[in-house]
Amino acid sequence: MIDTVQLAANWNAVRRRVDEACREAGRDPGEVSILPVSKTFGPDVVRAALAQGLNRFGENKVQEIKDKATALAGESIDWVVIGHLQTNKAKDVARLASEVQSLDRLELAEALHRRLEAENRTLDVLVQVKTAREESKHGLPAEELPAFLECLRAYPTLRVKGLMTLATLSEDPGEVRACFGHLRELRDRCAAEGHLLARLSMGMSGDFPFAIAEGATEVRIGTAIFGSRSYPVA
Ligand SMILES: *Cc1c(COP(=O)(O)O)cnc(C)c1O
Repeated sequence: MIDTVQLAANWNAVRRRVDEACREAGRDPGEVSILPVSKTFGPDVVRAALAQGLNRFGENKVQEIKDKATALAGESIDWVVIGHLQTNKAKDVARLASEVQSLDRLELAEALHRRLEAENRTLDVLVQVKTAREESKHGLPAEELPAFLECLRAYPTLRVKGLMTLATLSEDPGEVRACFGHLRELRDRCAAEGHLLARLSMGMSGDFPFAIAEGATEVRIGTAIFGSRSYPVA
């Protein structure tokens, strides 16, 4: 059962907290959007969110987008891929997604471009950059970003809009904030080299105020909107 009253309250509370973080950072709340992350939640929950006026959702598995898009056929929904993407999923992504925020390697750019050409579509993309120390984190190494952006010019179906990152899981707020600050500096350095990257997607339920303080234009929020996730036992 989805509690639509709870969902509306959560959504309003998150928007309020985001606005508050903007004011504390001296920023205009209109500069920061919220990407609701619906991963692991079923089509009924997405439908309830649609009723709240949300129509753009972050997902980390292409199979989930396929299943939900099928169940919600006829609804106008923008699906945003935020999870690690295997090259063999490029075809489904080219068909179903409105945006990919986890572009982290040329092989994937190439595969997406080929499929997008076949579909006669373009796709907004953010380059996911690794700013955390953990080995487990995906993302392009920061030092490779300038060359990567140059190479992406060969794939005109990919419209490069900005950068995305996941901060370290550290308990130390300073370390978390440093990851976000690093992404902003990279963006500014790229701008100086002629790559205009307006968007910075960074910050999740547990750390978004730091991301907003460091210049996020978009925060990706799952738990604080939809509640905690339960994963099926393998
Ligand atoms: C799950 C996920 C989020 C949202 O995380 P919450 O802590 O639930 O807000 C944000 N970004 C990515 C890449 C995710 O996989």
